[in-house]
Amino acid sequence: MPSRRVRPRIPETSAAQKAAAQAWNKGMVGQGRPAEERPAFEPCPVDGCATPVVGRRPPVAGMVQVRGSADGAAAHWYCPVRCAAIARARAELRAVPDRQGGER
Ligand SMILES: [Zn+2]
Repeated sequence: MPSRRVRPRIPETSAAQKAAAQAWNKGMVGQGRPAEERPAFEPCPVDGCATPVVGRRPPVAGMVQVRGSADGAAAHWYCPVRCAAIARARAELRAVPDRQGGER
């Protein structure tokens, strides 16, 4: 699983950016501490989250159904805030039609 360390960093090259960074870190110079080793995306610990809506409701209260993006795509149960929002956003992105002539 990719970590945060693999994300590209935009270099701060202008004098104004460097001055702002110096002001923010109170004038400290040198090498910062290494990035924390954590996955960029952590799996949800809630039991029954992201399971298809078939049969019984998951055992955790408050789970919500999120529809798939395509007609007939299976809906899934998600925990109410974080995963439901992610699933809705993913379904919306999948529903965006491909543009002709775009880069792949
Ligand atoms: Zn979840």
